[in-house]
Amino acid sequence: MPYRAEYIWIDGRKPTALLRSKTKIVPDGGEPPIWGFDGSSTEQAPGEASDCVLRPVKVVPDPIRGGDDKLVMCEVLNTDMTPHESNTRVLAVEAQEKYGDQDPWFGLEQEYTFYKDGRPHGWPIGGFPAPQGGYYCGIGADEIWGREVVEDHTWACLEAGLSISGTNAEVMIGQWEFQIGPLGPVDVGDQLWIARWLLYRIAEDYDISATLNPKPVKGDWNGAGMHTNFSTSAMRESWDPIIAACEALGEVAQEHVANYGAGIEERLTGLHETAPWSEYSYGVSDRGASVRIPWQVDNDKKGYIEDRRPNANADPYVVASMITNTVCSKLAG
Ligand code: ADP
Ligand code: MN
Ligand code: MN
Ligand code: MN
Repeated sequence: MPYRAEYIWIDGRKPTALLRSKTKIVPDGGEPPIWGFDGSSTEQAPGEASDCVLRPVKVVPDPIRGGDDKLVMCEVLNTDMTPHESNTRVLAVEAQEKYGDQDPWFGLEQEYTFYKDGRPHGWPIGGFPAPQGGYYCGIGADEIWGREVVEDHTWACLEAGLSISGTNAEVMIGQWEFQIGPLGPVDVGDQLWIARWLLYRIAEDYDISATLNPKPVKGDWNGAGMHTNFSTSAMRESWDPIIAACEALGEVAQEHVANYGAGIEERLTGLHETAPWSEYSYGVSDRGASVRIPWQVDNDKKGYIEDRRPNANADPYVVASMITNTVCSKLAG
């Protein structure tokens, strides 16, 4: 039997790229081949030279269609097979090749917000919901909106073989989180992009849209981040490299913040469990610091650190490559 391969790629939208996908029928027994698309419709090419190339980088079972059908995560190339300028995966591949001997691991906490009928899911028409306080890890129909989507999504990630490590309802109404990892810089990016695609696709069936907007509601409501937990083999073994990693991130703090997702100034205000975007700090258990050392790590004197700054709409290939380069170059030196 031929099977359906859903080719997924990242487009050229600025400042925040979106996911696109289309279906190819692949003949019985064949591997998903290199394919192409119209880059003039995705902000990746001019109309007179519109062809862009899709190269499969990760193929997983399609948990929505089932059977022999597949999801095919792709990278975008130019027709001469060089990486397209929108292709940030190559940055993660470079970082992995350069510093793979330090075995960098990433665990990403992807926060997101459900929208229904043009407003955050659970937001009443013409009024306001109860202030945040009961929604985080809440239970009951007065606290929780969209759990059916979350449950389907978690199961789909497992069926697709992704390293999803947990989910929770978040502080703002209609806001949730799932975690992917720990994995290396390339794998964590591939898997997070596939998990994002599955989230959008599954929510479609409920007439709900999932968004990665970093500050969906202004005022006294939490934003949405992509906390990035990071370690190297040295950090997993002793304390000094943990502190060295925190210090190294401080030396290039503004460069990192500038690449951690559009609209980061609106989210990193210093309120709502964030540190101000313009200042850098780190500390044990401190959810008001840029980088947190979890209490268990302080206790064991080894483990990992959490960079709390990346936005929900950050590109995991960019974030993982920057942290790998910044920290591993320091630890190697
Ligand atoms: P939080 O308390 O900030 O909400 P979570 O439990 O949501 O933390 O996420 C913690 C993340 O850290 C998980 O994705 C987990 O896989 C990841 N993690 C655990 N150990 C390591 C490690 N040694 N290196 C990198 N990431 C790790
Ligand atoms: Mn979390
Ligand atoms: Mn969270
Ligand atoms: Mn966190």
